[in-house]
Amino acid sequence: MEQSFIMVKPDGVQRNLVGDIVQRFENKGYTLAAAKLMSIPGEMAEKHYDELKDKPFFDSLISFITSGPVFAMVWEGENVIAEARKMMGATNPAEAAPGTIRGDYAVQVGMNVIHGSDSPESAAREIDLFFDKSEIQ
Ligand code: ATP
Ligand code: MG
Repeated sequence: MEQSFIMVKPDGVQRNLVGDIVQRFENKGYTLAAAKLMSIPGEMAEKHYDELKDKPFFDSLISFITSGPVFAMVWEGENVIAEARKMMGATNPAEAAPGTIRGDYAVQVGMNVIHGSDSPESAAREIDLFFDKSEIQ
């Protein structure tokens, strides 16, 4: 079954949005395969966002994502990668539809509450980066 790497970012953890976000994925019918609260080491953050390393906002993205604990998860189910992206809404919360996670909870592109894998290749890479095989059910 398809799996996606989903992460509540430091702003979402700090604002107590973990419960609501987990609930949305449970309500949708997806299965939680792994979860942990953790701080991301700088090097790991740079690996995770490697494809954005030439963007002007890269340094602020890395300092934001390492600024406090994140809640890292693996969710499993039919078409979960694309569906999770729909549930999250547009990258820029200003363009995210109401009813989506970013549409409901965020206003700034730099603090947009949640990350989700954007393809099967990134899902595999991100799950491998964040979780040991023994941590996944
Ligand atoms: P994520 O990878 O976090 O799920 P995404 O796939 O929707 O988000 P990406 O293009 O991968 O978007 O960008 C990664 C993150 O970088 C975004 O979630 C956002 O926080 C930040 N970001 C993207 N574009 C900008 C920008 N123009 N200015 C500041 N931050 C940005
Ligand atoms: Mg992305």
